[in-house]
Amino acid sequence: MDQSWLPGEIRSGEKMSNLSPQLIERFSSLAGQYISDFDPARAKKLYCCIFHPDRTPSLSINVEAGVFHCFGCGQSGGVKDFARLVGEPWNSARGESRAARARRARFHAEQQARAILERRAEARSRTLCAEHREVFAEIVAAADLLALFYRRPDLAAEFPVLATRTGKEYGEALFKQSLLEAQLEREVSI
Ligand SMILES: [Zn+2]
Repeated sequence: MDQSWLPGEIRSGEKMSNLSPQLIERFSSLAGQYISDFDPARAKKLYCCIFHPDRTPSLSINVEAGVFHCFGCGQSGGVKDFARLVGEPWNSARGESRAARARRARFHAEQQARAILERRAEARSRTLCAEHREVFAEIVAAADLLALFYRRPDLAAEFPVLATRTGKEYGEALFKQSLLEAQLEREVSI
């Protein structure tokens, strides 16, 4: 059946959107401005959310339908809501209220702060990983020495101070390792 005379949104399955091309364009440009890996060629895609710290993409954007929804923080709405959330003026920049400008400045500042915090967290995880490797090497060295003392009690008797110190170091390294692991766990699960 020829449906070409029907308005786009009614034509079966072809186009779900009743959004004007201008509005689609507006949404696309707003999203492109705020989502660094935004792909205007994709009508629907998941991105890392810009409204909450997000490591795995949970913000669904359907440009053609003009809607967005985040499965992480629950922010959702239409093009106008998106503009409001990022603090962009809806009509013209000339008529932009002071409140809208303030909102936009705040959103930019928050985004920057978030990026800095994320970079810091990454650097911190790298440091923690390096410390973890060091402690692990300490544990292995101490365990080797303890095993030797265990196999050769005569050596342990000959070097009692070293044997005691190694045992102590081994225990301390194990403790340090468990602390680091707990810290790393926290860093990763943010
Ligand atoms: Zn979100």
